[in-house]
Amino acid sequence: MNGPQAPAHRRTAPRRSDLPAGPARRPPGTHAVLGAILDHGPVARSTVARLTGLSPASVTGHCGHLLERGLIREGSETTGPRGLGRPHIPLEIDTGRHLVAGAHIAVRHVTLSLMDLRGRIVAEERRPHRGTEPGAVLHGLAARLPRLVARHAAGRTVLALGVATGHRVDPAAGTIVDHPQLGWREVPAREVLHRATGLPVHVDSHARALARAEQLIGEPSTRDSAVLLFVGTVVDAAFTTAGTVHLGPHAGAGSVAHLPVGAPPRAPDPTVQEPCTCGSTECLQAQVSEPAMVRRAAEQGPAVPDFPALLDLALAGEPRARALFADRARRVGRAAALLLDMFDPAVLVVVEPGTGRLPECTAALRAEVAERSRVCEDPARAVVPSSFTGSVLAVAGASVALGALYADPLGPWPTLALGAPS
Ligand SMILES: [Zn+2]
Repeated sequence: MNGPQAPAHRRTAPRRSDLPAGPARRPPGTHAVLGAILDHGPVARSTVARLTGLSPASVTGHCGHLLERGLIREGSETTGPRGLGRPHIPLEIDTGRHLVAGAHIAVRHVTLSLMDLRGRIVAEERRPHRGTEPGAVLHGLAARLPRLVARHAAGRTVLALGVATGHRVDPAAGTIVDHPQLGWREVPAREVLHRATGLPVHVDSHARALARAEQLIGEPSTRDSAVLLFVGTVVDAAFTTAGTVHLGPHAGAGSVAHLPVGAPPRAPDPTVQEPCTCGSTECLQAQVSEPAMVRRAAEQGPAVPDFPALLDLALAGEPRARALFADRARRVGRAAALLLDMFDPAVLVVVEPGTGRLPECTAALRAEVAERSRVCEDPARAVVPSSFTGSVLAVAGASVALGALYADPLGPWPTLALGAPS
C-alpha cells in the first residue's frame, strides 16, 4: 500500500476504485448562488438562475438557506424600467449581520482585521511583535481580537478567523509548516487559535489568500488564470486556474523566494549586502525584500530606520527613494517575466507597494517584462498591481476566512444565526 513508508519512486497511481469518497456532499450550487449574488447583487432570483444555470426552483431553495442564515437579504420590491415587467425582490449580500476576522502574521508585526461579507475592511489594527515565539504571537493576537470586535463590529457576529502568513502553510493540516524568517516550523496555528478564540479558524499562505481575494472581490480575470507575486519582507507567489488556487501536494506551490534572478555567482551583486536565508545572494528574496531595500538605502541613501519610512519618502517624491523603488520594480520584473513564460496566465498581479502607488514603478516593471518575456505580448494588460494596495495585509488574513465561507456557505459556521431573517 502507499503508506507513509513507501519510497516516493515506488508509489503507483491509485486506481479509481481506491479513491476515497471525499467529504460529505453539501447541497450543490449554494456557493454558486452566493457567488452570483456577490458579483451582481442586488439581483433578481431569475437572473441568478440564468447566471448559474440552475433552475429557478433550485435557486429559490438555495436562497432560502442563505436568507435563513443571514448571509443574504432581500431589497425592496422593484419593477422593470418605466414600471414595466413583473415586480421582483432583489437579493444582495447581507453586510449587517456577520463579519469575518483576519490575522496576518508578518516577520515584524501582526495585522488584525474585520471584513464584511462583501469584502470591505471594517477595521484594521497593526501591532509589532514583542518576541517571535509562536505561542506568544498567537495568544497575543487572540487576546486583542475581542477588543477590535467590541469597537467595530456594531452588533455583527464574527463567523470565522482567517490567518495568513508567508512561506509554507498547510491549509488542510492548519499548520504553518516552515517560516524561516520567523524561525517557525510545524506551528499548529489553527488548533491554538481555535482554542484561544472559540472561532472556526482557517489558515493559508498570504499569496494564496490574496489570489483568492482577487478572484472573489478583486480582479475578475484572475478567475481564468493568474500568477500573484507577493513582494514584502517575504517573497512568495500563488497560481490560479479555472477559479481555484493551486496548493500542491506539499502545500508548497508558489515558493519563489529562491528564484535565482541575480547576477551569475562569479559576479555577485554588490548592492545585495546580506544573503538569503538559503545563503545565496542571487535569490529573488535577497534582491527585492524589504530588508534588502533598507540596506540598499543605508548604502546609497536616503538612510531610513525601516521600510515604511523609505516608502513614505518615495511617496513624498524623494528622488533617491523613488530610484530604489524603480530599481526594485525592474528586479521584480525579471521574476515576473519568468513566471509569465512558465504559466502564461491571463494576468499577473504584483503585490508590492511601489507598483501599487508609484506610476514609474509599474512602468519599469512592465518594461522589464516586455524586454524579457517570450510569451507576454501586452504587459500593460497582463501585469497589474494588487486590487488591495494600501490594505493587502488586512485583506490577506480576512480573505482566508471569506474564501472558506464562499466555498462552503452552509458549512460548519457555529455562530451563523439560524431562524427567520429580521
Ligand atoms: Zn534563497
